Parts: sequence; C-alpha cells; structure tokens
Amino acid sequence: MSRSFESAQRVAIIGGGPGGYDAALAAAQLGAEVTLVERAGVGGSAVITDVVPSKTLIATADAAVAIAGAGDLGVQLFAKGGDGKPLKPQVAINLAAVNKRLLALARQQSDDMRASLTEAGVRIISGHGRLEGPGAVVVSTGLGGTDFDRIEADTLVVSVGASPRQLTTAKPDGQRILTWTQLYDMQTLPEHLIVVGSGVTGAEFASAYMNLGAKVTLVSSRDQVLPGEDADAAAVLEKVFARGGMSLLSKARADLVENTGTGVVVTLSDGRTVEGSHCLMAVGSIPNTAGIGLEDAGVELTASGHIRVNRVARTSVPNIYAAGDCTTFVPLASVASMQGRTAIFHALGDVVIPLEQRRIAANIFTAPEIATVGWQEKDIADGSINGVVRKLPLAANPRAKMMGIKDGFVKIIAREGSGTVIGGVIVGPRASDMIYPIAIAVERRLTVDQVSRVFTVYPSLSGSITDAMRSMHVVERAGEDEN
Ligand SMILES: Cc1cc2nc3c(=O)[nH]c(=O)nc-3n(C[C@H](O)[C@H](O)[C@H](O)COP(=O)(O)OP(=O)(O)OC[C@H]3O[C@@H](n4cnc5c(N)ncnc54)[C@H](O)[C@@H]3O)c2cc1C
Repeated sequence: MSRSFESAQRVAIIGGGPGGYDAALAAAQLGAEVTLVERAGVGGSAVITDVVPSKTLIATADAAVAIAGAGDLGVQLFAKGGDGKPLKPQVAINLAAVNKRLLALARQQSDDMRASLTEAGVRIISGHGRLEGPGAVVVSTGLGGTDFDRIEADTLVVSVGASPRQLTTAKPDGQRILTWTQLYDMQTLPEHLIVVGSGVTGAEFASAYMNLGAKVTLVSSRDQVLPGEDADAAAVLEKVFARGGMSLLSKARADLVENTGTGVVVTLSDGRTVEGSHCLMAVGSIPNTAGIGLEDAGVELTASGHIRVNRVARTSVPNIYAAGDCTTFVPLASVASMQGRTAIFHALGDVVIPLEQRRIAANIFTAPEIATVGWQEKDIADGSINGVVRKLPLAANPRAKMMGIKDGFVKIIAREGSGTVIGGVIVGPRASDMIYPIAIAVERRLTVDQVSRVFTVYPSLSGSITDAMRSMHVVERAGEDEN
C-alpha cells in the first residue's frame, strides 16, 4: 500500500541494478518522488551480464548433465542408421543458440523491470550520474556527455555496482582473453578454456563449460577451490571436477596471459605455461565509485574504493545511502536488493531491520550447487562460536538414490546445549532451494527439535535436513516443553 508524505520526499538513485531497482520501488511505494539514473540498462550487471546470463547458461549445462547421466537411470537414446542398425546419438551443444537465448532472456528481464518501475511512477533518466554535493545528482545524457540534467533530492542512494577487475598482464581483448561479460559472443564451445581464478565466479563457469563439453583448466592461487568456503563442500567439488576431466592447477598464480592469434598461453609464477584456446579472467571486481563526486560530497570510501555503509546502508553522510556491490557489504544481488529497501525504509521513516551478515543465504551454482547460511564449521574451529556439527551424505537419502545423486551432503550447525540452529551447508542439486528451511531456522532462532517436528515429504531430499536435525535431538525431560 502506498503512503503519501505531506510534501513528497525527493529520492534520487544512481544505478538501476538490484540495489537501485529495489530502492526505487520501495521509495515509490512510500509515496516519494523518485528519479533513477541508469547508464546501461535497468536490471544492472546482475541482469545484463552477470546473474541472469550465467544462471541461464548453467541451466543449459545442467540439462546436458541430466541427459548424459540419464543412462544410469535406464534411459537410452537410439536412432536408426542408414543400415537400419541403432546409432547412439551424442549430446551436442549449439552455443550460438544457447547464447542467443540467454541474451534475449536478459533483455526481456531488463525490459520487464523497466516497465515495473515506470508503472510504479519512477522517473528513469538514461545517462551517467554523479553527485553534486550531498543534495543533487548531475546526469550527462548526451553522446560525449554534452547534455545535462540536474536532480535535487532529499535522499540519495548510490548503487553503481562493480566491474570485472583487469590485470595489465592479462588484458581482456574480447577475442580470446575474456571477462565474464564477454563470454556470450562465442559462437562455438571453446576447445580448451583456461579459467583464471577459483572463487565463486571462476568455479561456476569452469563447472558450466566442463558440463557443456569443453576441456577446462582451472588455475587457482590457493590450495583449494572456493577459498574461504566450507572445506568439505570444496572437496566434493574438486572430486566432481576431476571426475569430469577438468585439470585443476592449485597454488598456481597466473602472471601473464597472451593471445597468440590461434590460442592463449598462460604463464604461471613458477614458470610453467598452459596453452588453451580461450582464457576467462575471473579475478574479482572493482567498485564503480571513481569520478562520481563521492569524496567531494563527504562520502567515506575504503582503500579499495568501496563505500563504507552501516547495517541500514547509510554512508558517512546522513542523507546519502549506498547499496550493493559498490559498498563494503556482501556482493550478492539478493543483498543489494535488501540494502536498497532497507536504505529507503530508514530514510523515509518506515520500520527498519538492520541487515545481519550471518543471516544471508548464499549459493554457488556449480554442479552440484553449494548453499550456505549462518555460522560455519570453520567458525567453530577458530573459536568464534561454540557449536556442534552434523553432516549427512545425500547418497544415504532414498530420494537421492532413486534420482542417481551420488555427490553432496547436508550439514547442520547448532549451538551446543540448546540445539539452536545457527548455520548450515547443503551440497547437491538445487541446494539453492534446499537451504531455505535452514535459513528460516537461523533467522527465527529455531532449535533442531523445532525444525525436525515439521513434516517433510517421504521420500524427499529435504528429508535429509530433518534427519540430520533429528540426530542432534536435545534430550529434555517430559513435560518441560508444553508447546
Ligand atoms: C558472473 C557473476 C554471476 C553472479 N551470480 C550471482 C547469483 O547467482 N546470485 C547473486 O545473488 N549474485 C550474483 N552475482 C553478484 C551480483 O551480480 C551482484 O551482487 C549484483 O549485480 C549487485 O547489484 P548492484 O545493484 O549493486 O549492481 P549492478 O547490478 O552492477 O548494477 C549497477 C548499475 O549501475 C549502473 N551505473 C554504474 N555507474 C553509474 C553511473 N555513474 N551513472 C548511472 N548508472 C551507473 C550500471 O550501469 C549498472 O546497471 C554474480 C556476479 C557475477 C560477476
């Protein structure tokens, strides 16, 4: 329901990704006069180059895996050859069609989001925005920055996102040395893709292209893929990568990447070289915060250029808020959206629940997926929190057996004594959906017994969540829990 202020608050937002988009919708809902400035397309990198294209590509890779693995379930595909004898068809990927589909899907999503903003009454200005002090945004709208608009506002939200980090010794050329935004021009599957960087982005693309049928080498500067993530989950992924034929070069730093005209050569810091057809550079992002007037407006930045924000997304300047990848918070689309809404609720005086990092559910879209929420086993190991851990392999789950799922597990982390659920990890297909009950338990501070009293369907993968929690039962004397 919309609420009108006596004289409408003026809200200006720079950046139309998930952070800016949700801030704009929330502000319009609260009756503010809202202007959103966007230089590329509504939906931002999340929709145009990052989340939507990559997850659509991964959906195709998952389909290819399902078809290739269907034989284990007794599904056999045959066609008749010219001599009447059966031929076994092979799975082939039409990458041009896959990329065409994912780019169209991204465009459509961007158009839908633009339409939702317009319908909500948000004024959208296409152009490059920068702050003019703490009370106005100047937008260059013409080609070459010749025409200008000036928007005065009571509240400003900066949600300008981030761009792929580029190394001078491995400059992306859009042909063979690529950032993740340049992958979708490829018309055929790369013969041999070298992925530099084994964080979330590198691991997701390495997994996807391997499952689409490309030869993949993953160059990781650490001793495990997905540094900082659950070690058991990373171990499962490494096993699956090795089984799929991926070469994993760990503790290997890429010093130089060269396009030879017919391929790429990656030189590692120990002198070794790896040759491939293409190289994907997945070495992190830098915030788009330079040259947009933040410092002049008094907004505090970190040494890396990220905007310092508190738990309600407020910057060091009281009427300037910031959301998403340009801030010091967790770089996820879901978080950017939540920050955008929280910023507006705080600025316009609605009820605000400050964001808490531990409550954020996150997923890595490899095959299998890896989803996490809350405190992790490493936090117990390093003494940050007291807790107990229970891990059940998915292979023991009856539904998983029926579906031919071999890899993955459910891990529950609970407080010692009370059994309050404080975290969890799920590795398996659709872990992104499976993590939800654990995220609710963490958010609502439910105990393992409260969660395991809820029925799960038999047989179901979610049954492993209650099985793990049942095995963590906290013994109470009868009559103590009357609820
Ligand atoms: C390959 C990849 C896959 C990902 N997958 C996931 C996923 O599955 N789930 C998930 O939650 N997160 C994922 N992320 C992270 C997610 O993309 C980001 O967290 C999200 O895009 C952040 O949203 P944002 O609003 O901060 O910025 P963005 O989406 O980057 O939007 C910022 C917008 O601001 C505009 N802009 C910048 N400067 C200006 C200016 N001066 N004037 C006007 N406009 C400007 C840009 O054009 C852009 O449209 C992924 C990231 C990558 C790289």
